[in-house]
Amino acid sequence: MAATPPTPATDAPRRKTGRHRGEGQWAVGHFTPLNANEQAKKDDDGLNVRTRIETIYSKAGFDSIDPGDLRGRMRWWGLYTQRKPGIDGGRTAVLAPEELDDEFFMLRVRIDGGRLTTCQLRVIGEVSEEFARGTADITDRQNIQFHWIRIEDVPEIWRRLEAVGLSTTEACGDTPRVILGSPVAGIAEDEIIDGTPAIEEIHRRFIGDRDFSNLPRKFKSAVSGSPLLDVAHEINDVAFVGVEHPEHGPGFDLWVGGGLSTNPKLGVRLGAWVPLEEVADVFGGVIGIFRDYGYRRLRNRARLKFLVADWGAREFRRVLEEEYLGRALVDGPAPEQPVAQWRDHVGVHRQKDGRFYVGFAPRVGRVDGATLTKIAALAEEHGSGRVRTTAEQKMIVLDVPEAQVQSLVAGLEALDLRVAPSPFRRGTMACTGIEFCKLAIVETKARGAALIDELERRLPDFDEPLTINVNGCPNACARIQVADIGLKGQLVLDDEGRQVEGFQVHLGGALGLEAGFGRKVRGLKVTSEELPDYVERVLRRFAKERNDGERFAQ
Ligand code: SF4
Repeated sequence: MAATPPTPATDAPRRKTGRHRGEGQWAVGHFTPLNANEQAKKDDDGLNVRTRIETIYSKAGFDSIDPGDLRGRMRWWGLYTQRKPGIDGGRTAVLAPEELDDEFFMLRVRIDGGRLTTCQLRVIGEVSEEFARGTADITDRQNIQFHWIRIEDVPEIWRRLEAVGLSTTEACGDTPRVILGSPVAGIAEDEIIDGTPAIEEIHRRFIGDRDFSNLPRKFKSAVSGSPLLDVAHEINDVAFVGVEHPEHGPGFDLWVGGGLSTNPKLGVRLGAWVPLEEVADVFGGVIGIFRDYGYRRLRNRARLKFLVADWGAREFRRVLEEEYLGRALVDGPAPEQPVAQWRDHVGVHRQKDGRFYVGFAPRVGRVDGATLTKIAALAEEHGSGRVRTTAEQKMIVLDVPEAQVQSLVAGLEALDLRVAPSPFRRGTMACTGIEFCKLAIVETKARGAALIDELERRLPDFDEPLTINVNGCPNACARIQVADIGLKGQLVLDDEGRQVEGFQVHLGGALGLEAGFGRKVRGLKVTSEELPDYVERVLRRFAKERNDGERFAQ
C-alpha cells in the first residue's frame, strides 16, 4: 500500500515559508515527490517490507529482493546491506551501489534508553553466535549491531528478539530512530529526574506508527535527567535535558535541531520547560513539524537542523505551540555545566538505593556474542539482572551490592572489559568503517583498538580525560566534530606520494554547555600508519605545555 501524506496536524492556517516553498514541504502542499527517495516512500511505506521479508525474500533468498526494498525500505526494519569484502576506500565513491552490496546484512537492534535485561542480553548473545558470526558492536546510539546476517535468518532473529521484548523496528530509515536515554536513569544518586516513563510513552505512541514512518530523513532523539548531560543532547534532532525549574520543580529543557554529518549544527534551546508527563506530546509536536515542514527536495538538506537554522528558535517554538500543541510552553532554565569531565559512567558508582553500578569499557564498542553472554551471567550473579548500554560505546551493570563489587570487577576485567580503563580506552570511539560500511573510505574499529593499545604503551602516565573519535568517512557517525581529537577518514598522500588510508584531523571539539566544533587543522592530514605518532606528539606537547589545572579539552 502506498504511503500517503497524513492529514495536517492542525486546522490552523499554514504559515508562509517564503523562499522555501520549493523545498518539498508537505505543509505547503508539495506532495509530489521531488526525488527518488521520496518517490520510493510514497510508492510503499517502509514498514510494509516486513511482510515481503517474511513471506518471500527469506524463502527465495537474496536474489529475490526488489532493489527498492534492498537499498531503501529494509532500513525501516534495521537492515542495511554490508560492504562487499576487499573493496578499498578509493572505490567507494565510484562504484555503483550494487557493486558495493554484499549479500549479507548489518542488523541494528534498537535499545531505547540503553535498557536491557540479562535475559535480553543473552538472546542478543545467542543471535550473534548463531546468525552473525559472533559479531556485536555497541554503537554510540546505545544500539547493538550485528553483521553477516543472511536474509533467510531474519524472521527467526525477529522471533527471538521480539520474544524478549526487543525489536529492530525503525532502527534505521527515515523514521524516529532509537530514543537515547541516560543509562543510569532511575538509579543515579545525582539524578534530576528519571526520563524513563517518557521514553516508554514515546516508544508506545510513535514507533512503528505509519503517521510518522515517512519523515524527510532520520529523526534522532534523546531524553536524560542526568546532570552529566550523558546523551549528547546537542547533536540530536530533539532532546529533553533534565533541569530544576525554580517554581515547577524537576522537568526537561527542550532542545531542537542538532546533528553532525557533513554540515554539522549544534541543537538550540527553545527556552521551554517540559514536565515529564508532557514530554511525549512535545516529542509528537516536534516530529510533526519535521514531517510536515521538513525539507524533502534535497536529501542533504532533509534534516530538521536546516529548518531550525532557517526559522530560528523563536519561530520554531511559536509553530510548535500554536499549530501542534495548541498551548504555550512554560519558560524554563538552561541546564548547568556538569562538574565531572567524563560522561560515560565508567567505574564503580553508588546508586541512590545504596547499591552500586559498575560501568566498563570494551575497546571502541566492540564485543562479541560469547562475551555478551558472559556479561549477562556476571550481571545475574552480582546484580539484579539489569544492564545498560551508553552513548559512548560502553556498558553498565546495575544494582550490585557493595560486597559483590570487587568480584564483579574481577570478572569483567578477566573478559578484558576494563572498569578502570586508561583515558585512551575510555575516550576512544570508532564507527563501523570499511570492514562493513558501504560509505566508508578507511578502516576504523581495528585502527581505533590498535591506537588505544599503542597509546597505553607509549604514554602510561597520561591521565587526562580526552576523546578521540575515529570515523571512516565525513558522515561523522562517531562524532568527528565534537571530540578533542576528531578523525575524519579519507585518502591521503604518504611520504612517497602514494594514496593511502588516513584522516583529516579536527582538534578541540566538545560537548556540554561549552559545546563547539573542533577546528579542522588546515592541511593536517595523517596517514593511518602515522596516527599513533601524531596523537602521541599532540598529547606529549599538551602534557609539557599545559598550565596548572588546564584540561586537554581547554
Ligand atoms: Fe560508515 Fe562513514 Fe558512518 Fe563510519 S562515519 S559508519 S564509515 S557512514
